[in-house]
Amino acid sequence: MDMCYAIPGKVLDIKDKIVTVDYFGERKRARNEFHDLAPGDYIYAQGGFVIEKVLPDKALGVLESWQEVFSNLREADLRLAERPKNMYEIANSVRQRNTGNACCVHGIVEFSNHCVQDCLYCGIRKSNSSVKRYRMSADEIVSACDYAVNELNFKALVLQSGEDPYYTGEMLCDIIRKVRQVCATLLVVSVGERGVELYKRLYEAGSRGALLRFETANPGLYGKYRPGKILEDRKRLIKSLKELGYLVMTGFLVGLPGQTDEDIINDIDLTGKLGGEIFSFGPFLPHPGTPLNGAARPKLERALETIARARISYPDSKILVTSALETLDKDGARRGLLAGANSLMINVTPDRYQRLYEIYPGRAGTGIMVSKRIESAVALLKSLGRAPSDLGL
Ligand code: SAH
Repeated sequence: MDMCYAIPGKVLDIKDKIVTVDYFGERKRARNEFHDLAPGDYIYAQGGFVIEKVLPDKALGVLESWQEVFSNLREADLRLAERPKNMYEIANSVRQRNTGNACCVHGIVEFSNHCVQDCLYCGIRKSNSSVKRYRMSADEIVSACDYAVNELNFKALVLQSGEDPYYTGEMLCDIIRKVRQVCATLLVVSVGERGVELYKRLYEAGSRGALLRFETANPGLYGKYRPGKILEDRKRLIKSLKELGYLVMTGFLVGLPGQTDEDIINDIDLTGKLGGEIFSFGPFLPHPGTPLNGAARPKLERALETIARARISYPDSKILVTSALETLDKDGARRGLLAGANSLMINVTPDRYQRLYEIYPGRAGTGIMVSKRIESAVALLKSLGRAPSDLGL
């Protein structure tokens, strides 16, 4: 199977902006805003959004190549989810029953490591003077996205940076419009605490997802680790993003010093309450250039338990395996996918910048060619019986 992160679906039914799509007999819903569609058309959807109409001949060709593979995958997934014995396996079986073997694979472009914030846990915090800072130009960002979508076949991309006001609303809108012109993709912005007005303009320019973690639901820990910042403001912004119509990706750090089991339960609860559609929980990994340098890494089990608990509480959610989890443990991605997770992100930042975006040290995948990383992600998904069909709304 070539590098492919989406299976085309057939439109069965259209009601206002919601289309019902068939993928080998499974029905999923997706939002359509940008395309002129009729029942019988073939489309690619990602993150519950229709992102591209596909010519029938092309779609049928791709579907034919998937047909047998897909039913084998589905069976393999089912077998792995049978007769669960522990909490991870129970979560995996809840995932299997509620979301099937679909798995989102998103790309991420980290376009600037400049940051005006000083979060104690983060390697690119303003006060870390040992970081070599970079900013990608609008042209570089657009061509990185062009490559990821049109050469590497990604159907969803996250544009992430430190909180960097160098990029004005106008610049970001311009970048988003240009990316949307050359790429059929679900575009997710992850640019930190910029104003609601700015996010509104980014939405109008064509971004449809926003990734903003609340980091911790404990206001005391939040204030301690994000000097000068208030949890309520962050929560309010995330709620506004939801109201603007964004697909909201949110979550928190697992294993911050001082975080209790009770905190993690509240963290999971808040992720759901904020209307997060894609949950993103990553283990905290101490960075030598930060005040939390001496802190301990959480155990893999803690991160996996968090995924499993979230899956059991929110059976039909989309839960990401983060690269922090892969960094914490070589087997982290596989274990996460078997503990309830069903989404992956692959770094598509140009090589020369990737190693500079050092939020935490030793990030998994850094220095390995993107084609190799994609190959191993696809092999991993295949070994677990997962297929890159859209998870739907
Ligand atoms: N500046 C943007 C996004 C970039 S940071 C924002 O504020 O939203 C992306 C995420 O990296 C953060 O939300 C945080 O949860 C995570 N992160 C920061 N430092 C980390 C560390 N030391 N270990 C693991 N994850 C970290």
